[in-house]
Amino acid sequence: METTLVLLKPDCMQKKNAGEVIGRFEGAGLQIIGCKMMQLDSAILREHYAHIADKPFFPEVEGFMSSAPVVALALRGEGVIAKVRQLAGPTNSKEAPEGSIRGDLGEDVMHNIVHASDGLDAAADELKRFFNDGEVFA
Ligand code: ADP
Repeated sequence: METTLVLLKPDCMQKKNAGEVIGRFEGAGLQIIGCKMMQLDSAILREHYAHIADKPFFPEVEGFMSSAPVVALALRGEGVIAKVRQLAGPTNSKEAPEGSIRGDLGEDVMHNIVHASDGLDAAADELKRFFNDGEVFA
């Protein structure tokens, strides 16, 4: 069993797609074991997006991700990390296939509805980043 970190991004919340996206995760057999609404600030975003902090588009991503509160989810299931990435689809919503979350609901490469951890180490780091002790119910 694995646990992964998902963020329902500001575009997801503003378009009222949270129920639709969570329904897809639950429909795939994944269990919510943590759920938290948060306003992200630049400190947590610089840490979370350290791998893109030197990209020219980073300030725009930071502005977008702090434009409205997000919902952080801890999702548990077998192979959940790969499953959630598969359900989400590729980063660029315009290239994401129909049937994927980003393909069906996303707008472009930045406004892509969800964040999902991309591996075991990232999931462990990100769960610690967004949830305090006692907030994930394993
Ligand atoms: P993913 O979220 O699919 O793991 P990355 O880690 O590469 O993708 O990028 C983090 C986030 O930064 C993306 O989800 C997206 O919101 C944004 N992003 C990535 N590439 C671009 C780009 N070229 N222009 C604008 N925003 C981008």
